[in-house]
Amino acid sequence: MAVVLGIPSVRPAPGRAPSTAGRPDTDALVDRFGRVARDLRISVTEKCSLRCTYCMPAEGLPAVAREDLLTPAEIGRLVRLAAQRFGVTDVRLTGGEPLVRPEIVQIVAACRAAAPGASLSMTTNAIGLDRKVGALLAAGLDRVNISLDSVDRAHFAELTRRDRLPAVLRGVRAALAAGLAPVKLNAVLMPETLRGARDLLAFAVAHGCHLRFIEQMPLDADQRWAREHMVTAETLLAELGRDFRLAPLQRDDPASPAEEWLVDDGPQTVGVIASVTRSFCGACDRTRLTAEGTVRACLFGDQETDLRALLRSGADDDALAAAWQVAMWAKPWAHGFDDGAPDPETFAPTLRSMGAIGG
Ligand code: SAM
Ligand code: SF4
Repeated sequence: MAVVLGIPSVRPAPGRAPSTAGRPDTDALVDRFGRVARDLRISVTEKCSLRCTYCMPAEGLPAVAREDLLTPAEIGRLVRLAAQRFGVTDVRLTGGEPLVRPEIVQIVAACRAAAPGASLSMTTNAIGLDRKVGALLAAGLDRVNISLDSVDRAHFAELTRRDRLPAVLRGVRAALAAGLAPVKLNAVLMPETLRGARDLLAFAVAHGCHLRFIEQMPLDADQRWAREHMVTAETLLAELGRDFRLAPLQRDDPASPAEEWLVDDGPQTVGVIASVTRSFCGACDRTRLTAEGTVRACLFGDQETDLRALLRSGADDDALAAAWQVAMWAKPWAHGFDDGAPDPETFAPTLRSMGAIGG
């Protein structure tokens, strides 16, 4: 079982201590392969109102003690360091489900105060968004990405193990009504989601949302992912192409992980993020903080560095920055699970599943 919470693996790489040999003298979060992290993902909780089969176990994740979570003030301090010292420009709150964290509005406010010029967004399943969207916007949130895999109630309940589609749709409508356009909808691409894909795209087009399908990654707590069960972009396009005219769009940014198609001559688009079959590890500019305050340099690397302990032991900004920089210098090159020859040092089933890392 891949679900280990509570700072599972704060340890150096097997057999050797983290090294900074060759690291250039820069404040930025550089790694050994020349990548620079400017995009910070922060998980604010491991708890969730859904139990998506590709993410959580049916019983949910083991609870993290409240005192083990980073507080809004601690998150604010780390975001300030990231923005001011490392040049981070994008901050995204995730989880678990960020809206179930009682202090989510304070967390947004702390991030905004710490990084006034950064893009501040949230990835959410939208349950409860109708009640919180006003306060979140007032606190400084810029955007939401909403995860939605099906607009059929029974199908949604099957995929998420919860009959909560009406609550999700209330959240989507609230985001649109609050002027949060463009609302991006994310769906995980797998055999079970394929059959609802056409209705989902029709919903997105009707509501002016941008729909993107993300290839399923081996980060489900149940460890059922198998390469041979993956649905390809071609299969998805064939399915959608029965009802929609799809024209490929020129990519603005060749490094962007999303391939996009114009739907019925636009303006709506549908995208595929081929995170497995066309890995974008080479252009990865992410750094992650788990809910318990560890830096995770890569989704697929269980090596984590405990910033919470440093914060709570009274470390100054220089010590925090140095620990974060060392953690990112050790970032592995790539996930390596699509070419049949994963690097055994960096790829094994992860100790944390997606919901425990923060997607
Ligand atoms: N609960 C929020 C939500 O669902 O949007 C935020 C956390 S969730 C872990 C973040 C994103 O990760 C969601 O868009 C979800 O679909 C995606 N995700 C979860 N498990 C995944 C997997 N095994 N492969 C690909 N994406 C996954
Ligand atoms: Fe919860 Fe998001 Fe994981 Fe679904 S994908 S179980 S909503 S954390």
